[in-house]
Amino acid sequence: MGTCTFQSDRTTLLAIRKKLTHAEQRKTPPYALYQVKTSDCVITAYESGKIVLQGNGAEDLAALLFPQSKKSAVTANKTGIYPQAGSDEVGPGDYFGPVTVCAAYVGSDDIDFLRSLGIQDSKAIQDETIRKIAPELIKRLPHSLLILDNATYNRIHSTNNMVAIKARMHNQAYVHLKNKLGELPAFCIVDQFVQKSSYYRYLQNEQAVIPNLHFETKAENKYLSVAAASVIARYAFLQSFDAMCKAYDFPFVKGAGSKVDETIRQFVSLHGKDALRNVAKLHFANTKKALY
Ligand code: MN
Repeated sequence: MGTCTFQSDRTTLLAIRKKLTHAEQRKTPPYALYQVKTSDCVITAYESGKIVLQGNGAEDLAALLFPQSKKSAVTANKTGIYPQAGSDEVGPGDYFGPVTVCAAYVGSDDIDFLRSLGIQDSKAIQDETIRKIAPELIKRLPHSLLILDNATYNRIHSTNNMVAIKARMHNQAYVHLKNKLGELPAFCIVDQFVQKSSYYRYLQNEQAVIPNLHFETKAENKYLSVAAASVIARYAFLQSFDAMCKAYDFPFVKGAGSKVDETIRQFVSLHGKDALRNVAKLHFANTKKALY
């Protein structure tokens, strides 16, 4: 029996439903848009844009519905390699708050547990859900979590760009995970933020470098280990963010949009410009826009 999974969008998934005129409608599972059954395939489309084809006819139907994705269906087979470790980061796009990176280990006996929690890309999961499920992951999965606070970030950023910082953090997370486990799994996936060759170039001066990492974009949608790492990293970001709001009794906002600019001005009027370096990534254009 085959399984093919694709990431798409709601509109496309609804258009696909219209194409499947011969399919039999089934009871819609939680978080799903629809579930239908053909003679040899069950098709489930989710609110998140994910579509899962299951059954002997899955691969043929996948080729029909997503002809351009033949390659991604092939690479998707690698997602079944266990044990695996995966890493992802949260916070590089947020003006306020830290950068967090997590590397997490997933063995084959963790698969059902992760699936039952609905683990997927943290960007697709609501904050409240992250707060509920992340502690479960933290308890169960061997992982390494790094939190780069804003003051340190700003100091390091004066001589390192964001990509260099991320590269060093991912590497560090794998070094720590290796120390915990004794040995890393043969298959370790980085949610790709830079070309593999550049990644290793940024690590030239590091003492310990974990070699042979696999780089793939949108890995958090393809590998349970990366998805789990992204949820833990997101949780750590939220915890830090909440602590910041509490410490300054101030409603910081996420992202880096125009709402942030207004928030910067409010924060500076209350706490002064010097305090900004402890809560924000100063090199963002928002600083200039808000203050000069
Ligand atoms: Mn990522």
